[in-house]
Amino acid sequence: MIREQATDKRNLRTVRHEGDLIVVGGGLSGVCCAITAARAGIRVVLVQDRPVLGGNSSSEVRLWVLGATSHMGNNNRWAREGGVIDEILVENWYRNPEGNPLIYDTILLEKVMQEANITLLLNTAVYDVEKSATDTISLLRAFCAQNSTTYELAAPLFCDASGDGIVAFQAGAAFRMGAESKEEFGEKFAPSADYGELLGHSLYFYTKDTGRPVRFVPPAYALNDITQIPRYRRFNAKEYGCQLWWIEYGGRLDTVHDTERIKWELWKVVYGVWNYIKNSGQFPEAETMTLEWVGQIPGKRESRRFEGDYMLTQHDIVEQRTHPDAVAFGGWSIDLHPADGVFSEKPGCNQWHSKGIYQIPYRCLYSRNISNLFLAGRIISATHVAFGSSRVMGTSAHVGQAVGMAAALCTRDKLTPRDLAGPPVRSLQQELLKSGQHIPGLTLHDPNDLTHAATLTASSEFVLNNLPPDGPLQPLTDSAAQMLPLPTGAIPHLTAFVTAEAETTLTVELRRSESRPGSKPHNHTPDITLQTLTVELRKGRQEVQLPFGVSLDEAQYVFVCFMKNPLVSLQYSAMRATGVLSVFNKTNPAVSNYGKQEPTEDIGVETFEFWCPDRRPKGHNVALRIEPGNERPGNERPGNERPGNERPGIRLFGPENVRNGLQRPTNQPNAWVAGLTDPNPTLTLTWPAKQRISRVELSFDTDFDHPLETVIMLNPETVSPFCVQDYVLCNDQKERIYEKTGNYQARNTIRFETPVQTSSLTLHLKTPSGTVPASLLEVRCYEE
Ligand SMILES: Cc1cc2nc3c(=O)[nH]c(=O)nc-3n(C[C@H](O)[C@H](O)[C@H](O)COP(=O)(O)OP(=O)(O)OC[C@H]3O[C@@H](n4cnc5c(N)ncnc54)[C@H](O)[C@@H]3O)c2cc1C
Repeated sequence: MIREQATDKRNLRTVRHEGDLIVVGGGLSGVCCAITAARAGIRVVLVQDRPVLGGNSSSEVRLWVLGATSHMGNNNRWAREGGVIDEILVENWYRNPEGNPLIYDTILLEKVMQEANITLLLNTAVYDVEKSATDTISLLRAFCAQNSTTYELAAPLFCDASGDGIVAFQAGAAFRMGAESKEEFGEKFAPSADYGELLGHSLYFYTKDTGRPVRFVPPAYALNDITQIPRYRRFNAKEYGCQLWWIEYGGRLDTVHDTERIKWELWKVVYGVWNYIKNSGQFPEAETMTLEWVGQIPGKRESRRFEGDYMLTQHDIVEQRTHPDAVAFGGWSIDLHPADGVFSEKPGCNQWHSKGIYQIPYRCLYSRNISNLFLAGRIISATHVAFGSSRVMGTSAHVGQAVGMAAALCTRDKLTPRDLAGPPVRSLQQELLKSGQHIPGLTLHDPNDLTHAATLTASSEFVLNNLPPDGPLQPLTDSAAQMLPLPTGAIPHLTAFVTAEAETTLTVELRRSESRPGSKPHNHTPDITLQTLTVELRKGRQEVQLPFGVSLDEAQYVFVCFMKNPLVSLQYSAMRATGVLSVFNKTNPAVSNYGKQEPTEDIGVETFEFWCPDRRPKGHNVALRIEPGNERPGNERPGNERPGNERPGIRLFGPENVRNGLQRPTNQPNAWVAGLTDPNPTLTLTWPAKQRISRVELSFDTDFDHPLETVIMLNPETVSPFCVQDYVLCNDQKERIYEKTGNYQARNTIRFETPVQTSSLTLHLKTPSGTVPASLLEVRCYEE
């Protein structure tokens, strides 16, 4: 029994934690920062004020994670971010294809708990900052009401990933809140005061159909006069969760200190909307429906943005400017909302895309005046306009990973965050690339990777000479294009298969993406037409010859665009392969894609068409026969000729791709792809002498083009159809030294407790399916 005498005052229990890095905020940016840092070997304390991780993506708020893939609705191909965030999303895809927010929570908690280097404090809010000098934080104080404990958290480095910037604010870091003027950075999209300078908070609800009539009596605080919400005529009783993003309010208030007030207003709106749906008589389909969940804390879009040594601007995004210290990338549209939110007459959002993904410089990721403070998530150094794009969670998480790795390097080399922005940033970039983080325009050069000294041979190599006409036949109600990776030189001769309802003329355009050397090599916006063919069709099924007579001066993807003609049906193929994709000039209003982006006034964004893939199970390749082009016989590249009588075709899928420093398709497939009929796809690395190998890194194709929204969106499969699930690794004695079945992740790290001594490694892959050849994006081997 505990019995204490009456006393004047008591103190709470205080527990002290020390580490190399304290990460404040367990949203996706904080989680990915902490995991990356912990895996890089430093001790991390992750402090989160909520009972679960994920911030706005958690079951408490239920936003789906988006990033550069943009619901597959813009021209960013193979643009999922990579690294830890990808591992999380792919895990969620595997375990949770229904998008259950509670299952998603468990994945995040598990990922963090598996890291021995992370001390996780849940339900613990940081509330105070102690400094040892004007520019140096020495300690944070936090409080957990669940266990009545205060914490002292000390470390040489801190990362503020708290959304509102609780640490940076108290430490005195320079910040901004609201919008910059058009003049300050020359941003033509900067909003007027009338539009508003801050994005508001939102609250969502989920509903369910109980199968019997359900009454709804609204709480007294529900909004009565629904006409205050201009959207009320367009309500849809079936919308729930993220589809209610337009329930937004607070952009004219202080989005930090007025948050509770904003929440009450949002509750008022939520219950008012539901009352209208249930009781207005306009929605008979809602008779048996009830509210299943209503958000208790609002999702916060915007508050403070802290200043780093560089501020990301509209120009960086639209012009896709390159930066020597690029460590992450974004690709969501610049997405601003009217400050009056749900009460505004204006559209709920105003989104403008760039032609491709853009780099995010490291100098945006630390405070310019607090020497040991990193910034991650929505508070990074960006203008209000640039924040409109960089704030989404896929991008925030990617930025968090860059910070986690930067903190590890700072710890190892005793550097401040700013020190790392100079020449050492190259090491940061390389370490990030090794961890699976994609940085557009950068390739991995790892001198310790033994793969570079090996001879690579493969049992077969996919030759793209035939996408057989064994898929669906679909009317050309929208223009459709097949993306083909090509080397420099003549365009191959293509044959397509169509069925015409009547005599008609089909227009086929050969296009490519504008690409100035060094600027936008990874873009996939088909904005340059190389040649247009018009083909007269007779009624019925027929082959269409496409003798393009042009030449490519650089290796890249071309788009064979079959222009819309409702009298024509285009034959598709059942075959899918890594780096081979079809796209369509269709609309996707969810991301303001109306087929073509065409600003009506000069707001500093570009005009271009959207050509985007269809989601599986649709989205087949266009059936094509691919034969030598007109300019020279065959399109074999020097050094890649094959003996024998193999049919010519596109030969860009050779084994050398696994060590070219790129782990996803960019302007080329960057993958070794085996022949579809190869009974035992095998890649062999041979060294002139025995090697000592203790670690092998493999990267498989989890389809970086496919967006992996965490909630609501259902996925037709649980594993990427391109992903090799079963493989075996053998040594030079043909002994199995590793075997994996049921793989679904991109990155596989194989560690040998006792290093393997061998002069060769042979990797046997199982072909994923009868229509998808096996592929491998990267192999790396290490002695340590
Ligand atoms: C309604 C809405 C719709 C949006 N739509 C999308 C979308 O569809 N897809 C998308 O990707 N993004 C979307 N966004 C943007 C995105 O959710 C945010 O920009 C993103 O969550 C920012 O990530 P973050 O890690 O910085 O912050 P958060 O996700 O907010 O995470 C910060 C975490 O820090 C914690 N924290 C705060 N203070 C403290 C403290 N003192 N101590 C300890 N912990 C603290 C918070 O509880 C929170 O868990 C939307 C935002 C809103 C509000």
